[in-house]
Amino acid sequence: MKPGTSIQLRTMLLFCVAAGVLLLGSFITAYVLFQRAVSSQLERQLTETAGPIIADQIADPEEKDVDQLNLPDAYFEVVDQPSRKVLQRSKNLKSELALHFVQPFPAEPFFQTVSAAEVGELRVAVVPFRVGDKQWALVVAGPTREVRTALNTFTKFAFLLLAVSLALMAVVSAFYARKLDLVVAQLRQFVSDASHELKTPLAVLRGETELLLSRPRSTVDYEQALRIIDGELKTLSRIVEGLFTLSMADAGQLRFAAEKVFVDDVLEESVALAAPHAESRGIRIERHLQHGIVVSGDPAFLRQLFLIFIDNAIKYSPAGRLLRVNLAAGPDVKVSFADQGIGIAREHVPHIFERFFRVAQREAVDSQSGGLGLAIAQAIVRAHGGSIECESELGVGSVFTVRLPFGTAD
Ligand code: ADP
Repeated sequence: MKPGTSIQLRTMLLFCVAAGVLLLGSFITAYVLFQRAVSSQLERQLTETAGPIIADQIADPEEKDVDQLNLPDAYFEVVDQPSRKVLQRSKNLKSELALHFVQPFPAEPFFQTVSAAEVGELRVAVVPFRVGDKQWALVVAGPTREVRTALNTFTKFAFLLLAVSLALMAVVSAFYARKLDLVVAQLRQFVSDASHELKTPLAVLRGETELLLSRPRSTVDYEQALRIIDGELKTLSRIVEGLFTLSMADAGQLRFAAEKVFVDDVLEESVALAAPHAESRGIRIERHLQHGIVVSGDPAFLRQLFLIFIDNAIKYSPAGRLLRVNLAAGPDVKVSFADQGIGIAREHVPHIFERFFRVAQREAVDSQSGGLGLAIAQAIVRAHGGSIECESELGVGSVFTVRLPFGTAD
């Protein structure tokens, strides 16, 4: 079984078992309550029927009225309490009811269920009463047929409902289990990419330190090795910082200041910071910045955002090329970075904002962000309520356009 499939299956099973147990529990509770309600309704009917007949018996004990009774679905006996002898029996009873009497005879009405020949199952109310100095009891019985039918209908309906609910639950859980499966697969891919990215600088660091320690070295050798170690450590901390920023963004926990920010100021600052790198790579940066455009945002994050595009343009452009940084106001604030670099193939453009996605191998370029730059840029822009577009042509260059909502100038 594939690990993904097993998670999916286990989630579905868990959902269905939990829902099944809950539904079954609710059904049993509802069944017991319903059974009690219909049974006590029948018992109430029986004791209410007993009232006038007992009154008649007390008024005229010699009159054998009960022997004359022949009502549909109602059966009667008059029992002498001390001897348990049946004194009268309604016409519709072919034989005496097989009642069970405890000693001493209860003073209050009580109920039991008996089976009678040709009549079937009966619920019986035994109501004790006094006639002069005699202690009698009126037995009133009614069929449980209707109660059984009601309970059967209830059970059938409840099982149908249970089956439909479980089927629905299976469909819903399959849907969510698939989603969960995708998230788990993405998470696995992310962890494997992250560890792969961390492995390379760590391997370089280990190689350098092992080489240094293998024998005594000159000061120049130490300095050279330390420079390499320093570079790799910077890459490592950038990857770790990047991962932290992205995980905070995923959790919606990135803390942004919502300040009034003049975009041209932040762009000037970013270009100034990247200038030494651009100069060393022979890249010219031209600025066409409209002044006074304000957004509401975090200046530090916006600087990081602009530097990602400027650094990429420098990294992926041959020496002697130009990077144009534009800032203009349209329906929203539009910042674009147009380079004359290597460009990106059309099939790769939809993937460049994915974490760790790289067109070229890490070794082939001087990667600063560890393949996280554009993913971080995307997270920052989204948190500022904006969007990013990329247009690119292989061998011609790329244009990254950031759109941000206007902020208020006061
Ligand atoms: P990194 O630059 O560290 O690899 P990014 O997330 O910043 O990571 O970029 C992802 C990929 O997109 C890069 O590896 C590169 O292939 C491509 N890319 C980004 N910017 C440019 C650009 N200006 N010109 C050409 N390719 C680019």
